[in-house]
Amino acid sequence: MAGPGEFELIREYFSSRFQTGAQAGGVDSGVVLGIGDDCALLTPPRGKMLATSVDTLVADVHFPASADPYRIASRALRVNLSDLAGMNAEPLWFTLALTLPESNAAWLEPFARGLADTARLYGITLIGGDTTKGPLSITVQVTGSCDRALRRDGASAGDHIFVSNQLGAAAAALPIVLEEYEPSEVQQQQADAAFYFPEPQLELARSIGACASAGLDISDGLLADLAHICEASGLGADLKLDTFPIAELAQSMSADAALETALTGGDDYQLCFTVPAKYLDHLQGLQLPITAVGRMREARGIDCFLGGKPWQPRGTGYRHF
Ligand code: ADP
Ligand code: MG
Repeated sequence: MAGPGEFELIREYFSSRFQTGAQAGGVDSGVVLGIGDDCALLTPPRGKMLATSVDTLVADVHFPASADPYRIASRALRVNLSDLAGMNAEPLWFTLALTLPESNAAWLEPFARGLADTARLYGITLIGGDTTKGPLSITVQVTGSCDRALRRDGASAGDHIFVSNQLGAAAAALPIVLEEYEPSEVQQQQADAAFYFPEPQLELARSIGACASAGLDISDGLLADLAHICEASGLGADLKLDTFPIAELAQSMSADAALETALTGGDDYQLCFTVPAKYLDHLQGLQLPITAVGRMREARGIDCFLGGKPWQPRGTGYRHF
């Protein structure tokens, strides 16, 4: 089926679903002018910093090219929202650079619906983008507002290290998403949720923002991402893995493989953050879905301990190059 031309496509699938005038995204959205002109015009929230980040999802690298377009859109926006959560920023606006092999209404309709549903859920609005022809690729740039930024360089030796929720689900989901084996119905659902509907930890970031000394979202695996906090803060870390929160989907593996997956698997989009000891009581009182996994230390490097003995993982997260 021949799809719409470029401008028709933008109008039909994007500008019609995201308001383009002063009311775009609600009264406080700050959008003076949205999709349709050379630039969007935006009013930054008074007295706040802007936090901005961009991520590209390439077909057959970050998702199967044949995946449901609704889910691709969900994933593309959620992984970007996770970067805002990793900085403790509030979602405001996003742009979309879409490269498509063809103009295909049967693909664009569910894609635009997935994008609009996800945007509504997290209170972010589309303000512009670019549409080109080529191999399927989706670039989303998000902007948020921020006053208590969760930077990587603020940790001190002795700070406690926490992770949110469970880890390892997305890595365990990958062979299911790639249809490498036949999962149970429950596994299929968990894999779908972990891979296509990761939950950006915006609310959690808000709760810990006042007491965390450093933090980030875990996109490349805890060990790789914690290494970024160590590097930026000029420190190292000890991890105690005895009560490590391993996602249910990873638990069907051997205990060692499950732990390794939870520590080095990417794409979970949970938060890792550090908290000075003086705030621990306050933090515990908040009853958040977080687990203490170790402490920051002066000596560089990361050491893992299981049952009091050193424990060595084989990998340290996904790298593109
Ligand atoms: P220009 O040629 O001036 O760069 P374009 O023709 O690329 O403008 O885009 C026209 C308008 O449509 C712009 O406001 C742009 O931000 C918006 N736009 C283009 N592609 C998309 C898209 N995929 N999603 C949202 N907005 C888009
Ligand atoms: Mg222009």
